[in-house]
Amino acid sequence: MTTPFDLHGKTAIVTGANTGIGQAIALSLAQAGADIAAVGRTPAQDTVDQVRALGRQADIISADLSTIEPVQRVLDETLEKLGALDILVNNAGIIRRADSVDFTEEDWDAVIDTNLKTTFFLCQAAGRHMLAQGAGKIINIASLLSFQGGIRVPSYTASKSGVAGLTKLLANEWAARGVNVNAIAPGYIATNNTAALQADETRNRQIQERIPAGRWGDPADIGGAAVFLASSAADYIHGHTLAVDGGWLAR
Ligand code: NAP
Repeated sequence: MTTPFDLHGKTAIVTGANTGIGQAIALSLAQAGADIAAVGRTPAQDTVDQVRALGRQADIISADLSTIEPVQRVLDETLEKLGALDILVNNAGIIRRADSVDFTEEDWDAVIDTNLKTTFFLCQAAGRHMLAQGAGKIINIASLLSFQGGIRVPSYTASKSGVAGLTKLLANEWAARGVNVNAIAPGYIATNNTAALQADETRNRQIQERIPAGRWGDPADIGGAAVFLASSAADYIHGHTLAVDGGWLAR
């Protein structure tokens, strides 16, 4: 029996699929029935093995997304290896921390290029394909710093605020043509990215006290939201950034 959340017969690109949130999204999409192109600079062998164990097709596509050089090849290889493209998840991202008075151009450019520029051009390349087929789902990974300012992370805040804006702009252009563009804003999720915060006893306690749900998010919490936004259950959702944050923004 199929449900509106069923993704059998769909093919998804997930960037940064080797670990953390990207891996969880790839596995959740595969559990819902999707085949996976695992795109990234570190080969996502573990993810691909787990997706195949679920009975879905999966392939690694090697790409360093710090520039847009590999963007068209990622699309071409996905279509060549998996034969279709229905879902794009722009998850790969980095963060650099320093006081704004000391922030370097290198730290500005690295974060903006990976988190915002490559995200846009992957949306463009996938969007061209999806618009031609009259259907597609794009999910960008935003952040609480798409809504809040943060501190000592100027390029990250700019990039993730940009991702939320871009998501709305693309929805305005593509919603009537069958392509949904939305974003997910993860709260504090237990991944490599946040390992230092989790290890800091004081910060860890302060963060958990501030989260209404009283716990860190699990990467699988983001996977569930991605399945929803990738599915026909979300056909009328456009340009939205969905916070999956244990209630952080409600506080
Ligand atoms: P993570 O464990 O550090 O994973 C980041 C992923 O991005 C890795 O797969 C990484 O690949 C990939 N990546 C980074 N630069 C890349 C590049 N130049 N080319 C290709 N892939 C690249 O972090 P995460 O927590 O899962 O984060 C995933 C996304 O969620 C990011 O966009 C992050 O900003 C966002 N996010 C996370 C949290 C959180 O609490 N964890 C909260 C809000 C938003 P490598 O392994 O090769 O570096």
